[in-house]
Amino acid sequence: MTTTKRRCRLCRSPFSGRSDKIFCTIACKNEYHVRLRRATAYTVRETDKILHRNRSILLEIMGKNKKQKKVDRLILEKKKFRFHYLTGFYVNSRGKTYHYVYDFAWMTFSDQEVLIIRRA
Ligand SMILES: [Zn+2]
Repeated sequence: MTTTKRRCRLCRSPFSGRSDKIFCTIACKNEYHVRLRRATAYTVRETDKILHRNRSILLEIMGKNKKQKKVDRLILEKKKFRFHYLTGFYVNSRGKTYHYVYDFAWMTFSDQEVLIIRRA
């Protein structure tokens, strides 16, 4: 590691040290990460809300113990379920897409029906 002169990423103070160092002090490093987390928290809040709401809707429909349940798509639409908000997806060998919302998944069963699955 070479030692070079450079400026702190946060406060712009000049400092010297190992070439992979980007902050003058631990305090600047910590503050930088606090700001980064705050900016991220602010930006992702709306998406988180929609995903949390989607999960609540699925939980409400499924109840506590059911492993899977087929429902009319309208039931989800009436509850303002946002079909395009997912935590992931998986296409099985038969070409069926599992749309993940945390520990739940849903798939279109027919044009008007949705199968909701509780993931193990
Ligand atoms: Zn600094």
